[in-house]
Amino acid sequence: MTRRTKTRKRLPSKAKRKGATPVKRSSAVAKRATVVTTRKRARGAGLRAAGKAGTRKPARRGVAVRAGAGATRAVKLIYAFGGGRADGSAKMKNLLGGKGANLAEMASLGLPVPPGFTISTEVCTYFYDNGNRYPAGLVEGVRAAVAKVEQLVGRGFGDPANPLLVSVRSGARASMPGMMDTILNLGLNDTTVAGLARAAGNDRFAYDSYRRFVQMYGDVVLDLKPASKTEIDPFEAVIEAKKRARGVELDLQLTSGDLKELVAEFKDLVLRRTGKTFPDDPWEQLWGAIGAVFGSWMNQRAITYRKLYNIPSDWGTAVNVQAMVFGNLGDDCATGVAFTRDPGNGTKQLYGEFLVNAQGEDVVAGIRTPQKITLAASRAVAQSQGTSEAQRAAKSPALEEVMPAAFKELRKTAEKLERHYKDVQDIEFTIERGRLYMLQTRNGKRTAQAAVKIAVDLVRERLIDRRTAVSRVEPASLDSLLHPRLDARAAKDLIAKGLAASPGAAAGEVVFSADDAEQAREKGRRTILVRIETSPEDIHGMHAAEGILTQRGGATSHAAVVGRGMGKPCVVGCGALAIDYHLGTMRVGERIVRAGDPITIDGATGEVFAGIVPTVEPELSGDFEKLMSWADEVRRMKVRANADTPHDATVARRFGAEGIGLCRTEHMFFEGDRIDAVREMILADTTEGRRRALGKILPMQKQDFIGIFRAMAGLPVTVRLLDPPLHEFLPHTDQEIEALAVKIGVSAEHLRQKRDSLRELNPMLGHRGCRLGVTYPEIYEIQVRAIMEAACELTRERVKVNPEIMIPLVGVKKELALLRELTLQVAEAVMRDYQTKVPYSIGTMIEVPRAAIVAREIAEEAEFFSFGTNDLTQMTLGLSRDDAGMFLPVYVDKGVLPGDPFVSVDQSGVGFLMRHAVAEGRASRSRLKCGICGEHGGDPASVIFCDQIGLDYVSCSPYRVPIARLAAAHASLAAPA
Ligand code: PEP
Ligand code: MG
Repeated sequence: MTRRTKTRKRLPSKAKRKGATPVKRSSAVAKRATVVTTRKRARGAGLRAAGKAGTRKPARRGVAVRAGAGATRAVKLIYAFGGGRADGSAKMKNLLGGKGANLAEMASLGLPVPPGFTISTEVCTYFYDNGNRYPAGLVEGVRAAVAKVEQLVGRGFGDPANPLLVSVRSGARASMPGMMDTILNLGLNDTTVAGLARAAGNDRFAYDSYRRFVQMYGDVVLDLKPASKTEIDPFEAVIEAKKRARGVELDLQLTSGDLKELVAEFKDLVLRRTGKTFPDDPWEQLWGAIGAVFGSWMNQRAITYRKLYNIPSDWGTAVNVQAMVFGNLGDDCATGVAFTRDPGNGTKQLYGEFLVNAQGEDVVAGIRTPQKITLAASRAVAQSQGTSEAQRAAKSPALEEVMPAAFKELRKTAEKLERHYKDVQDIEFTIERGRLYMLQTRNGKRTAQAAVKIAVDLVRERLIDRRTAVSRVEPASLDSLLHPRLDARAAKDLIAKGLAASPGAAAGEVVFSADDAEQAREKGRRTILVRIETSPEDIHGMHAAEGILTQRGGATSHAAVVGRGMGKPCVVGCGALAIDYHLGTMRVGERIVRAGDPITIDGATGEVFAGIVPTVEPELSGDFEKLMSWADEVRRMKVRANADTPHDATVARRFGAEGIGLCRTEHMFFEGDRIDAVREMILADTTEGRRRALGKILPMQKQDFIGIFRAMAGLPVTVRLLDPPLHEFLPHTDQEIEALAVKIGVSAEHLRQKRDSLRELNPMLGHRGCRLGVTYPEIYEIQVRAIMEAACELTRERVKVNPEIMIPLVGVKKELALLRELTLQVAEAVMRDYQTKVPYSIGTMIEVPRAAIVAREIAEEAEFFSFGTNDLTQMTLGLSRDDAGMFLPVYVDKGVLPGDPFVSVDQSGVGFLMRHAVAEGRASRSRLKCGICGEHGGDPASVIFCDQIGLDYVSCSPYRVPIARLAAAHASLAAPA
């Protein structure tokens, strides 16, 4: 079988189905180099500004910022919040970023938000448009905004007695978790740290805050990162050395004296590595941090994330500067993250984790294992791990138990936020001396399963209507629900159990680095990315792997959040693993799993198995069906499936297909012994010989059609007459030739000659499609006979049938005219023989560009058009669908093409032809039915495009039918009324 036939039979890879394009490492590395320079420049500018901020001549006031399309206007650069009021609101995400807009909204709602201000995304855009310079007025604006915060909290920025410390965080319009930079505790130096210690009455806390600040600033602003994938963080190395020297195991065991020494050692490290002293002036620190946040918009992981999620790079990020509150002042302090509902399965219960006496990054970093917020969740985890109630209560009590008052306020606040936003919120909070502070809220990322349940539940709770519910679920995300789960009956070799973080089963060989995952993927190998914990640096590998497994981290760790967002199966916090990156091993008790060994993970249970475990089909019911029925109420376009067998047809109907948009008859030719009859037909030198062989195929094809028509019970079934070039059915190797020669009783020489005579250099443009029908009409004649006899027999049985006979690869009206006439004659003759009438229609694929161009004339002979966008893309772009993979990823990576045109319709090229063909076709035949049956029929963006150009239906593989149904509903919701 040639590549083409294989390509056609094979389901597109999961990545293709998801419309994802792997990020090529080589050019990503090249890009990283340029980005680093940009980033350095960005920082330089930030630091320059900071250095001069106090002394620089005030810049010209009122300088305008670009306001799109070259227009300029004087704009507000800074938006304050806090003290029960705010300049901005949740509606201003474009300007304030998600974080800034929601902080403003929470402040206006009267929630306890530490005061601060947001520097708008327009400043970021200005920064990049103007050689990394800030707009005039920003320096003064920041000073005034800091003064306001000082006033609200009663502390002074840089005040040695009572210092104000701030956090500086990025915040883009679309949430990009962990992709950009954050700096906490800014404002500390050798003088203010003493003030902080006095004010807090806690030396250790002050020096711990100070060492965290120097570490974060060193990493984020001064770029002190590990030099290679095996080196550990340089600051962590210093901490480890200190712990060794003191003979302690935990950071918490270091004394304030140790921490003070660490600060000095960190600063030495900075000086040694960068040649610069660590900045002591809080204002210099602030400008450095602001510059770094803007710079981080162009860091490699942010670029990769934007590419994966189609976020335009000109949106820019905002910078949020906010007074610090402390979760690490003592045991009456805590910090945590929570979702207002379970983001894994959608259950309505406060879901989250916290740590006593800790700062925000400790929860997500996975260094300490966080505790559950609710008692119920805490008990459930203990039960699943076989921990006794007494042990649980002593070791890992819930927030509900340790800080009941703060817990109650958190629950009340969570409910208020959910009612206000009418969606699940993902919140960050800190409890300082028993008092709750809200640091962030945003719509929570959730698994597809949770998204469906939450959308349906919110309708039941009358918070949203059905249309909104439909719009809340991303069509592409359904993919993870439509995929097989582990077969419960299969033998499994359980090696470990972690936390279930993102559902779905995934199997592949173990890799221990993101780069390895990506390289394996490029070679077509499936992997499970196994890490101690993941960080945003791993994003490309997480994308490339089938699933993710981590040793550390909780349900809100980076791996869990990103895995869910990507719809990737993910197991986290699998503490039984001992991972050694250097050795490339993962030890579980006595067992050693090496890089390259196969494992399977179940993201729904947290289980990890050795080897590849078989899977079973998903069951779709309940909330899923409800949501899909609402989608069906909304959509205009019909959704059909591409199915070639009665089994596929049955699966397709189960997924809601309203017909078959493409039944590729050649796939039937490969079944069982049929291939022999097909080969006999090909080898025949006369029409009579071909007819004889075809006579053997007819009853078999007829049985297939009977099965398919019966499964579809009167729904339309588009049957395409033979399309591929005949050589695809012949054996290729000499060995295969010999074997066949013996089997069918011809000489091997004759077979070889036939194979050579049929060989084509470019078979995709060769003797295929309707060209076969024109040259060997008996082939199509027999196929039409099989279709119509099947239809007549079922009609006699009173089973409804609705066949649509489709002629492929038409480019010229006359081709279709000739084959239509032949089809009509055979169909009428069969119906006469059976003395019955069957409704049927004859149409064509539009897959040759010429057919699209002259669609007006073609429609005179066609009752329907079905866009074969696989071939149409190939021929319009002049890109071989079989070979373009050799260079297409580079094209996409370099931005030559916005995406893979075989995944998502090239709307300005191929889409132009489609739009033209629909309009022209309907100009000559107003009731011309138009659909699509290329792979694009299951790609959400292409489905929306098909709706816009007025197609009647899309057709895609059975598993993608629900995705297409939901995408079609989204298209209707987005269409102008
Ligand atoms: C197409 O070309 O889009 C199509 C559906 O046909 P095939 O993939 O079988 O060539
Ligand atoms: Mg085609």
